[in-house]
Amino acid sequence: MTVAQKKYVSQFTMMGTVISLTLFEPRQTVVEAVYDYLAQMDRVFSVNRSDSELSAVNQDAGQHAVTVSPGCFDLIRDAVDYSRQHADSFNVLIGPLVKLWRIGFGGQQVPDQSAIEQRLQLMTLDQVELNATRRSVFLKRAGMQLDLGAIAKGYFADQIVAQLAGVGIKSAIVNLGGNVKLLGSNPLSPDGQWQVGVQAPAAPRGYPVLQVQMSAKTVVTSGIFERYFEVNGHRYHHILDPQTGYPVENQLDQVTVITDQSELAEVLSTVTYFKGPRAGAALIEKLPGTEAIFIDRQQQVTVTSGLQPRRKGVFYIE
Ligand code: ADP
Ligand code: MG
Repeated sequence: MTVAQKKYVSQFTMMGTVISLTLFEPRQTVVEAVYDYLAQMDRVFSVNRSDSELSAVNQDAGQHAVTVSPGCFDLIRDAVDYSRQHADSFNVLIGPLVKLWRIGFGGQQVPDQSAIEQRLQLMTLDQVELNATRRSVFLKRAGMQLDLGAIAKGYFADQIVAQLAGVGIKSAIVNLGGNVKLLGSNPLSPDGQWQVGVQAPAAPRGYPVLQVQMSAKTVVTSGIFERYFEVNGHRYHHILDPQTGYPVENQLDQVTVITDQSELAEVLSTVTYFKGPRAGAALIEKLPGTEAIFIDRQQQVTVTSGLQPRRKGVFYIE
């Protein structure tokens, strides 16, 4: 086996985050295609664009069904299914609450209890009508809003890796603002394994708390350090509890999920964040090929059983 000497890293800012694509051969047209794909997805899914398909669905809530493109329908259907499966934690109808709290968008304050309760009324899943034949989505009550923020990047990462494989790319790293998905084997390492660092926000940037060696998988983290605000020493972060309407209160800083499908990893990282290290790890242990790393407020690390220690700070997955 010849070991490739070069890697080609492309970086751009999109969807409010830094996107990076690493290839091991010079394929500029492939990079352009990924860029164009994400720009297209932004036009379909952005809630900050009033002309996106997702905004059309939200704006027409309480009025009528909206026909969307196939990819948009698939992602919404998946997100609704996952919300049904994990009703106590993951809820794609969280939009009205996210808008109310405005966490990470400046000018935040703790909303009135009555406003929170009002928004919780708009989050019932049986008020979503999906029609697969017509590819239409109907939010039956005015004010309901889909928010795909906890799942969309995973779906995009899966699609991008499939597209790369489809044009003959053998190895790649897709990094969508910290959501990492790998393709093929690592041409720069003799055993083809990849090494992915898990960053802890409480530690200095560039110093991962631990590293994991693995084959081509996806690594997704949900944490409370990206977007939050503080009032009287209390931290309000952006993972909201669909039952109470408040940010989840627990002892965790973050959860990292490692599995094959990035969309699933996104959902599991949010769900296990809610569950915490014990119940969260119990859920992950039941899923084949899936591992998780929990880091609590004291920087205590808990890992699932498939993560084997190699040396200090380095784990591997068989
Ligand atoms: P990150 O933004 O770091 O990727 P997550 O993947 O956990 O973090 O997604 C958080 C985003 O998902 C929030 O900004 C919000 O848009 C949305 N969200 C917040 N709470 C929930 C929830 N309980 N269920 C589904 N989506 C949520
Ligand atoms: Mg997520």
